[in-house]
Amino acid sequence: LIQPDSGTVAVIGLGRFGGAVAESLVRLGHEVLAIDERAEIVQQWSDRLTHVVQADATDASVLSQLGIGEFDRVVVAIGTDIEASVLTVLAVEEAGVGEIWAKAITAKHGRILHRVGAHHVVYPEAAMGERVAHLVTGRMIDFI
Ligand code: ATP
Repeated sequence: LIQPDSGTVAVIGLGRFGGAVAESLVRLGHEVLAIDERAEIVQQWSDRLTHVVQADATDASVLSQLGIGEFDRVVVAIGTDIEASVLTVLAVEEAGVGEIWAKAITAKHGRILHRVGAHHVVYPEAAMGERVAHLVTGRMIDFI
């Protein structure tokens, strides 16, 4: 499907966050394998991304068929469904991926993701809230 090299990234979950990550990576010139379990989401993204696959990412055998272990970097962008998020990070870790990024909804969720193998945990809403607080007070310097 896609020959992973150092520039390729797999993005799992194409919600608002995962979709933005995947689209930005493509704009930056990376090859992206995007995975979502919902047919309508896959359909919606198929003309904007080259490789979009419909699959349940909590299923380790499905991930192995997609060659997820060959990727250097994987972003798990499933948030609301904590069980699916945790199981997906676990399956990606078991596949031997060296750099796993995962989105968390709460600090507790984030702690679990670290424990099951995420190397980087991001909190998009909290991070953007903090950023906006700085922006509205004109303190952009804090971000340099
Ligand atoms: P947003 O980024 O829009 O805030 P969110 O945090 O609410 O998203 P979810 O809606 O839970 O995240 O999941 C994002 C995407 O992940 C959805 O498009 C959903 O279909 C997909 N997804 C959820 N579970 C799985 C799974 N097991 N395998 C693959 N994709 C999944």
